[in-house]
Amino acid sequence: MSKTQTTCAVYSCNTSKAEAEKKAASALSHAELKAEIRRLAKEKNAVIMAHYYVNGEVQDIADFIGDSLALAQQAAKTDADIIVLCGVHFMGETAAILCPDKKVLVPDPAATCSLAESCPADEFAAFVAAHPGHTVVSYVNTTAATKAVTDVVVTSSNARQIVESLPEDAPIIFGPDQNLGAYINSLTGRNMILWNGACHVHARFSVEKILALKAEHPDAKILVHPECKGPVVKLADKVGSTAALLKFAIADEAKEFIVATESGILHEMQKSAPEKTFIPAPPDDSTCACNECEYMKMVTLEKLYRCLRDEQPIVTVPADIAAKAIKPIERMLSISKQLGL
Ligand code: SF4
Repeated sequence: MSKTQTTCAVYSCNTSKAEAEKKAASALSHAELKAEIRRLAKEKNAVIMAHYYVNGEVQDIADFIGDSLALAQQAAKTDADIIVLCGVHFMGETAAILCPDKKVLVPDPAATCSLAESCPADEFAAFVAAHPGHTVVSYVNTTAATKAVTDVVVTSSNARQIVESLPEDAPIIFGPDQNLGAYINSLTGRNMILWNGACHVHARFSVEKILALKAEHPDAKILVHPECKGPVVKLADKVGSTAALLKFAIADEAKEFIVATESGILHEMQKSAPEKTFIPAPPDDSTCACNECEYMKMVTLEKLYRCLRDEQPIVTVPADIAAKAIKPIERMLSISKQLGL
């Protein structure tokens, strides 16, 4: 048998095995899948963390749900042996950098992020090199390699406060989200140089469609994530991170809210305030009523089950990149702690 045939035979064997295992997972009922996930998590001392944007059924089975800041804070302090990060790849990388002694798993390694992808590390490093003397502030939605050329990481929960903590005359580069960067510039009066990146989900909200919804629901308050474009942000009654929008929706006296961020957050909003009505703001380019991140929605119960069962795929970050990337992440966690965030 030729080498090629051997490889093909092995591939075909592995493929059949993978398909059989996939079928086995699909053969489990929903209830059995959930029970198996919890059993495996307990048996393996694994903690399941989920971002607010993943499917509701994955959020419901997680030990912890949160936004990017909260997930990083939880990862930094967990005593679990395994962290399963139900979110997109950069979130798994952040956990792996913070917890080099733990096994970090992601249910689907193909779940990336258009914002992180809009800032290739080599191009960003050249941009940084072209602006000597600038403090480099990077949004957490970046690859580990981009974080490695960053001075301090921020999330939408702490970006304003961290930028304000820098000396007033400090020249700053902010990447990769130009919409968030422009919003922080408007709040702080800084004149940060912005990388030209964006999240395809938040960038496609439509002013016209939100105004049409507002006409139908005149008492609804409009909640907007700062990754949205400026004209959408201007419509907001509240601008904030997913965690901040959730907190506002729970505490505010309004009964209806139009929500302009990824629609996964509506699951937790509705659970936390069942008496209120949450209306997803639609994107401008489709007939769909809500705006979903297809990467976040790649994380399913079946994939979570297989990932825990097989302890694969593991997220790894090359040691030289991790050694550089951990500094701006720890700086963010330290400033956030000082500020009580
Ligand atoms: S919603 Fe946007 S920023 Fe968030 S993971 Fe998806 S592509 Fe990335």
